[in-house]
Amino acid sequence: MNNGHLNNFINGQWTPSSTKDFLDVVNPATMETITQVPLSPRDEVDQAVQHAAAAFKEWRQVPSNERIQYLFKFKALLDEHHDEIAKTITLECGKTFAEARAELVRGIENVEVACGIPIMMQGYNNEDIARGIDEIMIRQPLGVVAAITPFNFPGMIPLWFMPYALATGNTFILKSSERVPMTMQKVFDLLAKTGLPNGVAQLINGGKDTVDAILEHPTIRAVSFVGSTAVAKYIYSQAAAYGKRAQCQGGAKNPIIVLPDADMEATRNIVADSAFGCAGQRCLAASIAVTVGDAKAPFTEAMVDAAQSRKVGYGLDEGVDMGPVITAESKTRIEGLIQKGIDEGANAIVDGRGTSVSGYENGHFVSPTILQDVQPGSDIAKTEIFGPVLSMMHVNNIDEAIDVVNSGAYGNMACLFTQSGAAARKFRYEAEAGNIGINLGVAAPMAFFPFSGWKESFFGDLHGQGWDSIEFYTDKKVVVERWPKEWSRKF
Ligand code: NAD
Repeated sequence: MNNGHLNNFINGQWTPSSTKDFLDVVNPATMETITQVPLSPRDEVDQAVQHAAAAFKEWRQVPSNERIQYLFKFKALLDEHHDEIAKTITLECGKTFAEARAELVRGIENVEVACGIPIMMQGYNNEDIARGIDEIMIRQPLGVVAAITPFNFPGMIPLWFMPYALATGNTFILKSSERVPMTMQKVFDLLAKTGLPNGVAQLINGGKDTVDAILEHPTIRAVSFVGSTAVAKYIYSQAAAYGKRAQCQGGAKNPIIVLPDADMEATRNIVADSAFGCAGQRCLAASIAVTVGDAKAPFTEAMVDAAQSRKVGYGLDEGVDMGPVITAESKTRIEGLIQKGIDEGANAIVDGRGTSVSGYENGHFVSPTILQDVQPGSDIAKTEIFGPVLSMMHVNNIDEAIDVVNSGAYGNMACLFTQSGAAARKFRYEAEAGNIGINLGVAAPMAFFPFSGWKESFFGDLHGQGWDSIEFYTDKKVVVERWPKEWSRKF
């Protein structure tokens, strides 16, 4: 911190930005301004890249089993400071302390998995691909790589990328969300304590101009992005135009199907957690519930009860299930979309607009909302709301339900609730989404599996996490060798 401003972490030092442009970082529950974040100019991105490029020359030579020693220390420090980081997440992002703790668990998991790099980044080889000729494939790091991350998981999402980038021998620059920049300040403080060489991991704060400087920088080889679909498309096309490898995760509109044989009690709790957890600001939030046949009445009744019994409030207070949404604009947008749904003929059987929480009257709270009889093809059925709003539709059979799933533009996640194995297999086979949940509401892949969005939810071919990460952060080099016997000396 410097005069109430956050700093960048460049070449191993916390460094003030030269910018005059700062944004307030605001606690969304209290409206208190916590600090200010700099919108770093282009030349500061360039400085970070120059340091990263210089550091890369040494870092790539550090044996992978030595590189991961920094990650082991990092993991221990993250565990030790887990609550402190989680509290920071709640302060700037609004989600509850329990949600913030859980998010960090999922982030740390990636640090653990990246510690397996010495075996995961091995190449392969064949002797005698022709007589006396051998061929080997070696994986080499790319060089300087960058990630640009969203507001809704300030702790977890940067960790989808950084551990793998570092472990594979790249140097890494993070541009975290300017709306929630404090969490990564804490995390980079811990990273610095591991003794990681200067320039290997750097943090630059900023907005669109900072992102553009990253995209256009000729030395940066690869960009990972997570955020809205419009920006994901922009990043993907710009990265390609500037010759970079890119993986861009976008927005979502996740459908869940409830069959009549579903266990209603379990389904209620799981769907409510998915739709209303993190105030619906999750790319894996259930957004549309499609009931099939006789599931409609019991599921609707159960969901109304679940929505009405969720306690909304300040995420650091005891007993609160759901915090505020991120900004006043988000609240206005979400409430406007609820009205749009009603105007299109939906019935707000639970209406969470106009929520005010005692003691936090200035906070941006929207309570759980359920829109019934949403029509497939209507605007509300197609638009990502990114708030605690569950739209409900009803169909006659599983084929019609799968048609609803597959008619959507996004393909981040689709879930099915049933006790039938045959229905589950059919759904798994036919649903056009990259993350599938069966009797699960947030099908978030573990770190050792790829985070597989499809369609408008992902632009690229190698996803974040798992083996895809290793492919993304390495170039393959193939060596074909001939060492004729005649050249052997007699020893
Ligand atoms: P956002 O797209 O507004 O911002 C994401 C990042 O892009 C930020 O770092 C921001 O500074 C930068 N950015 C914003 N506008 C830009 C522009 N015009 N040009 C260049 N850079 C720009 O997203 P957000 O509001 O922070 O996050 C919410 C969105 O992220 C939702 O759509 C959600 O579904 C999506 N999301 C997707 C996943 C996933 O895994 N697919 C995960 C989390 C969030």
